[in-house]
Amino acid sequence: EWEQVKADMRAAIGAGNFKSWIEPLSLVNTTEGVARLAAPNPFVGDYVGKTYGDQIIYHLNRQGMSVQRLAFEIDGAANTAAAKPAAKKPKSLTADAQPDQRFTFDSFVVGKPNELAHAAAKRVAEGGPTTFNPLFLYGGVGLGKTHLMHAIAHELGEKRPDLNVLYISADQFIYRFISALRDRKMMDFKQHFRSVDVLIVDDIQFLEGKESTQEEFFHTFNALVDQNKQLIISADRAPGEIRDLSERIKSRLQCGLVVDLHPTDYELRLGILHAKQETYVNVYPGVEIATGVLEFLAHRISSNVRVLEGALNRLYALASLVGRTVTVEMAQDCLSDILRASDRKLTIEEIQRKVSEHYDIRLSDMLGPKRTRSLARPRQVAMWLCKQLTSRSLPEIGRKFGKRDHTTIMHGVRKIDELRQSDSQIADDLELLRRALED
Ligand code: ADP
Ligand code: MG
Repeated sequence: EWEQVKADMRAAIGAGNFKSWIEPLSLVNTTEGVARLAAPNPFVGDYVGKTYGDQIIYHLNRQGMSVQRLAFEIDGAANTAAAKPAAKKPKSLTADAQPDQRFTFDSFVVGKPNELAHAAAKRVAEGGPTTFNPLFLYGGVGLGKTHLMHAIAHELGEKRPDLNVLYISADQFIYRFISALRDRKMMDFKQHFRSVDVLIVDDIQFLEGKESTQEEFFHTFNALVDQNKQLIISADRAPGEIRDLSERIKSRLQCGLVVDLHPTDYELRLGILHAKQETYVNVYPGVEIATGVLEFLAHRISSNVRVLEGALNRLYALASLVGRTVTVEMAQDCLSDILRASDRKLTIEEIQRKVSEHYDIRLSDMLGPKRTRSLARPRQVAMWLCKQLTSRSLPEIGRKFGKRDHTTIMHGVRKIDELRQSDSQIADDLELLRRALED
């Protein structure tokens, strides 16, 4: 199947790129969602991971392999460089993880939901005297915690090369702690962690229920804070909500600055998609995604940024395969599984009700047969919103509008699509309604 993946990659990236980057690779094995690829040297592995990683993963999955991540091996040494920064539990944990090159402040899109977290991360990344310690970042999956932490590590690496910065996920910390106990290397372990200047620990909810590791973490934590060394910690929830975390740790965590990353809003999602699109220009030259598609994705995929990125990635792969511009219809088709999973379960009835309230007309009038403009326009707006915000088909929407023929819905949707380019009143109405319906 690897041969097939290679053939697909050649078609996707062209013979020249293929010869330089993909040809030299071989597939060693795939276990637990990780595909191991052998590369002739670290440079190739690194470059391929960054540039073609997502695409290779896509094609491996198309061949029936279940792969979430790539790992590159060079001369027998395992060296992870791709989709995700922290591996589950590979042997290479004894070496400190390098910050992921893609996760920088430059590539982080700032919006209302994350501006505080971003500002706090920026401040810490200046490497000045510690103003808040620890910095505790929390928020749901895929909202950018790990990204910000890697960005801090990068920036400190540039601004303060004299500082010893260590990024580690809590499960790596646990793993190392247990290994040190087993190998009787506790002195080395303590020494290692207490000699850092900036310690970044990701996902500390993994310490739940791990008493002895917590104890050690607490000591490390105190030793560093007492020496005025900066700590940056993340979790998927607030310190007080992490079960089985000792009270001492909770209260120490709350002593610094606690900031949360809020769920993304539409603007932020659209911003991220635009930024991401720019990075794809080099990966998929000449491939086009219609402008409305990004808006469609930002509307419909509100769960987490990783899913959003995955969707865009899939669309690019699709576009490069079919060789034409991806439209909203194609996106709906190609992403139906993702869309279904992140459907907000907004009903057509809710949309109709909101629209009639917004225009201050009776719902029965809006759904009735009268064609006066003051009713027809809101009716079309409601149709458009149903098409954009739900995964109902046109005939299904048609039925709820009492239309036997779904072409009426299609005309309504088209009409609004036109109007929203030229009529700012309509554009504003749509925006307001969408917001009201989205929360
Ligand atoms: P978390 O650690 O909170 O689960 P990550 O930091 O791993 O989330 O983010 C998931 C993915 O979404 C990453 O690829 C990251 O680059 C991307 N991402 C999240 N937030 C943003 C943002 N504001 N701007 C750009 N990319 C983002
Ligand atoms: Mg994370």
